Amino acid sequence: LGLAIHGGTGSFLMKDIPSYINSIYKDFFRNIIDVNYDLLIKGEYSLNIVEKVIIEMENSSLFNAGKGSLQNKDKLVSLDASIMDGKRHLYGSIFGVNNIKNPISVAKKILIENEGCYSAEYISKQLLGEFDFVSKKYFSSDKLWLKLLDSNNYLSNKNGTVGCVVLDQKGNLASGTSTGGLVNKLSGRISDSAIIGSGTYANNRTCAISCSGYGESIIRNNLAFYIHSIISNKKVSADKAVKIAFKTISQNLKYNVGLICIDKFGKVIIHQNANSMLYAYKSKHFNFNIFE
Ligand code: ASP
Repeated sequence: LGLAIHGGTGSFLMKDIPSYINSIYKDFFRNIIDVNYDLLIKGEYSLNIVEKVIIEMENSSLFNAGKGSLQNKDKLVSLDASIMDGKRHLYGSIFGVNNIKNPISVAKKILIENEGCYSAEYISKQLLGEFDFVSKKYFSSDKLWLKLLDSNNYLSNKNGTVGCVVLDQKGNLASGTSTGGLVNKLSGRISDSAIIGSGTYANNRTCAISCSGYGESIIRNNLAFYIHSIISNKKVSADKAVKIAFKTISQNLKYNVGLICIDKFGKVIIHQNANSMLYAYKSKHFNFNIFE
């Protein structure tokens, strides 16, 4: 069993991050991993852990997801999230919402109630009252994570998406991703984070993946599903499949792209072509590891 989380790729260099900020992120990651790893040991279902982890990240305001989300061209937030259950092969996805505290929970609800669909409107029409709704003000509070970018050109650092991949005791894989999307994005743009097979994918036969980075590159290559299909068609390890995928599509990856992957054996792979990626993971065979 095991879990991995990410807080997005970035174009900042880790060495430029002030050490007090580095510690805040590391403590946050360590704590999430410890608490949720224990739950996995107790037998918790992978999909529930993915949701729980991402809720914490969405609420933290440490990332470009949930509370910490950045604004689009019209100075509004527009949140996307998706989740996938590798056992039942079901997914849920919600995009373009601006009044919901935890998009990942809506995505999960869609997975459970509809056995999978994409939804833009679902939330306002059917779920009113079931979720925590928030006002614009909720998203405009101080975003600590933006301080990560102080030393750099703000606009060239567009990332901070969150994601989680899990393998539970019973061998069930699950994956989820949540984002505020690219800063200054077109209104109405939907990111890879909402698209199954691009930013999020899980299949018990192979692996679970959550991506971050420039969404158009990820979508164009259907990156998460591409890796799954390399594993299943070529019968190679997830590690190898990730490398093959990045090599094959390298010309199409003009901008930052990164991902976390856990395979059906609990092996975690972190891969990126960005300057940095925030991540941490722990698995039965590979212990604890965190970004440097
Ligand atoms: N993939 C996200 C998007 O394109 C951004 C990110 O991962 O930072 O909106």
